[in-house]
Amino acid sequence: MTETNGAAARKLKTVIVGAGMAGILAAIKLKQRGEDFVVLEKAAKIGGTWRENRYPGLTCDVPAHAYTYTFEPYAEWLAYYATGAEIQAYFEMVTDKYGIRPHIRFNTEVTALTWDEAAHQWTVSVANGETLVADAVVAASGVLHHPKMPDIPGLDSFAGTKVHSAQWNENTPIDGKRVGLIGNGSTGIQIVTAINKRVEKLVHFQRSPQWVMPVPYFAYSDEDRAAFRADPKLIDAIRFSDEYLGNVRRFTDAITDIDGPEIKMIEDLCRDYFEASIRDPELKEKLRPNYRAACKRLIYSWCYYEEVQHPAVYVETGKIERIEPNGVRMADGTFHELDTLILATGFHADRFIRPASVTGEGGQTLDAAWATRPTAYYAVAVPGFPNFFMLNGPTGPVGNFSLIDIAEHQWGYIEQLMDVLRRGNAAAVRPTAEAHAGYEERRIAAAKKTIFGSGCQSWYLDATGVPASWPWSYDAFVEAMKTPKLEDYRITA
Ligand code: NAP
Repeated sequence: MTETNGAAARKLKTVIVGAGMAGILAAIKLKQRGEDFVVLEKAAKIGGTWRENRYPGLTCDVPAHAYTYTFEPYAEWLAYYATGAEIQAYFEMVTDKYGIRPHIRFNTEVTALTWDEAAHQWTVSVANGETLVADAVVAASGVLHHPKMPDIPGLDSFAGTKVHSAQWNENTPIDGKRVGLIGNGSTGIQIVTAINKRVEKLVHFQRSPQWVMPVPYFAYSDEDRAAFRADPKLIDAIRFSDEYLGNVRRFTDAITDIDGPEIKMIEDLCRDYFEASIRDPELKEKLRPNYRAACKRLIYSWCYYEEVQHPAVYVETGKIERIEPNGVRMADGTFHELDTLILATGFHADRFIRPASVTGEGGQTLDAAWATRPTAYYAVAVPGFPNFFMLNGPTGPVGNFSLIDIAEHQWGYIEQLMDVLRRGNAAAVRPTAEAHAGYEERRIAAAKKTIFGSGCQSWYLDATGVPASWPWSYDAFVEAMKTPKLEDYRITA
């Protein structure tokens, strides 16, 4: 490790990739420090996941007041849980309030990042052929980003309207139509609750059932919003409440201690809700999961069980044989004639900043470094890729809580690594291969023992079947993000 004491502080030139929640956060923080930065955004708007996802029923299942930046509470939420459109409006408001928009270059897709060993800088190539240079890169390009199409024969032969949930088109024919919906993760379940009363019929193709956690839902009145505006402490009382933070802690305890009381409480709640809610015995057997609650991403809903029992909804649990021009053929020969087919089949969750090609020290590529699985030291930095920092990168915390909170803690850690560079005579900082290998060994051993590894299929699992997540408690994450252990980093002049 090179000593960096004594040299003058310098400003860094930083490229932030992505103007979603995490990229806007990084931009605000760098602007507040008077740093030189630019945000490169491939689309024409900010918002990331909230820009892309506009399907009916889109709601964030983190309580709205807890789904904001800590430094920018928001009085205007319409209900306990916010819709996607409201969240997009919040990020638009914040982007303007903090003067970030002029720092964003829209329609500018990053295609390649290449570490220049001599200059100790990244060369950033964008789709129009232009290049930029940066002392540091912040990859804030999101996790659930690249839609995954189901590998079902005949998919392209469908003659009606076919749409992936993350590529929603407002003109998708729903009203009075025969609609098929494939997939029942958080997305598919929200879509059922939003369109079941609009369709002639809805065939929900369910490959595996889901556990559903009952949650409260209520609207905020104009008076409530006025009160929140007048006294932000009322907002703090919700977002920093023991109830909310207690739930976050209990949830991570449940994930990590699969024989403990917290997971039992979740399992009991889900089972009791299920048993009490579904009236038809045949439907009940279709919806009964055969794996443990929270193994797949737990669904939080206040209305799914009621809405799935609407007479227009048919839950199809048979195996899909193929898709034909007029509908879906099941393996037992049953045919569902459809006008519209919605694919709520999830995302390629292993891409992160890719397909941009990232080339680090010695010509090594991120593709090669991630050949087994996407991985990063404490989810933020990668050996061999100096001054390259990730927000919501691989193996960061996943769960039913705010990724904004996670990104803020990660930013606190990244800022300290950037401070090492700012101090003057350090040009490059990256984790050592040894420190990273030790971290991954501990993480993988612990991840296998989490509820996510208890025997179900989900996007949480990497290609080798290991949960790609933070496998320790929420408090351990907060503690780890407080101060980087600089002895685990190689710092060079
Ligand atoms: P997902 O959880 O990955 O679910 C994909 C669904 O598609 C699963 O039901 C899967 O079945 C099914 N599927 C995939 N391929 C299929 C095939 N070939 N044939 C039949 N079924 C197939 O995706 P998602 O629902 O879009 O959710 C992804 C994540 O986004 C969530 O877990 C959550 O983190 C986030 N999200 C959050 C909210 C929120 O309220 N905060 C809302 C929406 C999404 P199997 O289960 O059998 O694999």
